[in-house]
Amino acid sequence: MITQEVEKETPQKQGMLNNVMRQFNNASDIIELNTNIRKILGITNNELVVHFPVKMDNGEVEVFTGYRVQHNNALGPYKGGLRYHPTVDIDAARALAMWMTWKTSLAGLPYGGAKGGIQLDPTKYSTSELERITRRFTYALGDNIGPELDIPAPDVNTNPQTMAWILDTYMSTKSPNERSTNMHVVTGKPIGAGGSEGRDRATGYSVFLNIKFWAAHTNTTLKNKKFIVQGFGNVGYWAAHFLENEGAKMVGVQDAFGSIYNPDGIDVESLLAYNQSHGNIVGFANTVSIPTEDFFSLACDICIPAALGNQITISNANAIKASVIAEGANGPTDVEAEQMLLQRGVAILPDILCNSGGVIGSYFEWLQNRNGEIWSLEEVMQKLEKKLYESFKKVIEVSENRNVDKRTAAFIIAIERLEQAYVQRGIFP
Ligand code: NAD
Repeated sequence: MITQEVEKETPQKQGMLNNVMRQFNNASDIIELNTNIRKILGITNNELVVHFPVKMDNGEVEVFTGYRVQHNNALGPYKGGLRYHPTVDIDAARALAMWMTWKTSLAGLPYGGAKGGIQLDPTKYSTSELERITRRFTYALGDNIGPELDIPAPDVNTNPQTMAWILDTYMSTKSPNERSTNMHVVTGKPIGAGGSEGRDRATGYSVFLNIKFWAAHTNTTLKNKKFIVQGFGNVGYWAAHFLENEGAKMVGVQDAFGSIYNPDGIDVESLLAYNQSHGNIVGFANTVSIPTEDFFSLACDICIPAALGNQITISNANAIKASVIAEGANGPTDVEAEQMLLQRGVAILPDILCNSGGVIGSYFEWLQNRNGEIWSLEEVMQKLEKKLYESFKKVIEVSENRNVDKRTAAFIIAIERLEQAYVQRGIFP
């Protein structure tokens, strides 16, 4: 979701790569991962940095820097989002690409992992400038992306419109008889432009379902449970929407512009309408503004970080009141904070499990495009739920059998699947 006005201070991104490597090494030590395979998985396959010029509305030319990091494709084409944000750089793209490899592997998809984006603040550009930036970036990426090679999707500050521009630009560079066979070069497209029913809500739905599965697993219900959401974009909104439908109550929300609180509840759909008309959540009726640093200490049962990485750190982990953290964002909790939370008995539903509905929804869109099929919303949501429940069950099983936390269990499942592929295939030549 692209919003106007000036963002509050850029959050820290340092350490995401450090975090994902520590998570990977921890799980690899436990399973005694083959050292040669550890070497392969510990590094990215390909890293592309492109500088490209774009004509601005005032006639001046600005040069942008874009990234695409392809971590691993042992299980299938590279897959992962494109982010438009000032914190995008090569290390952020590397870390996020690695998380995608573990996520697609855990979900049992025929995909590898990639991530990329452009280092920019989209609030500073007009829609037509963003369109030209996106199209020129796509052109610069050229055949380094492709429907059977590397398939981007939306992420922070990119949306179905961004994907439609990418698709159109990519198709336009192909010969006429190849154009319509390239529909699956991106996922998360608008429905009218080859998108799938349900892809819009798939990530938030998976955050919700994981919380619901967790509640059932711990013999509780979501009725009247209080939750807070950091990030009220695609993931945060849809997670809140489904939780509210289940009887839970949203009491706090934070976006890039500020934080709002009402212990009696904030109506999710009214806040969505307000956000759409105002460009942010600040000043919403019957809420009080609270300082950014107090957000994670709000009284609640469920905490959903659904914005950027490294938001839950040693500086706020001990203040968290929630008994479960459902990671909508990628890498929101750093390694030290996670240790502190686990010691206090806080459950963490890890990103590569909790938000995996997004890439599963993307897989369904890719399959439909590839096979010339169109599935109904009901069909997509049913298939999504089935797959998500399988992953949840596996993670709980491994976590209990090996006596490890849920993130480590998720990593173990993901890494073992990749290990098997390498062992069976061997290394060329
Ligand atoms: P989005 O652009 O739709 O929304 C991002 C939200 O985060 C906005 O409300 C924005 O104001 C807020 N935000 C930005 N900076 C913030 C800050 N410093 N503090 C508080 N809030 C801030 O993005 P999205 O697609 O909802 O993605 C959110 C997270 O979920 C990202 O970490 C992304 O990688 C992850 N994710 C997204 C998908 C997907 O399908 N879109 C899938 C899996 C994971």
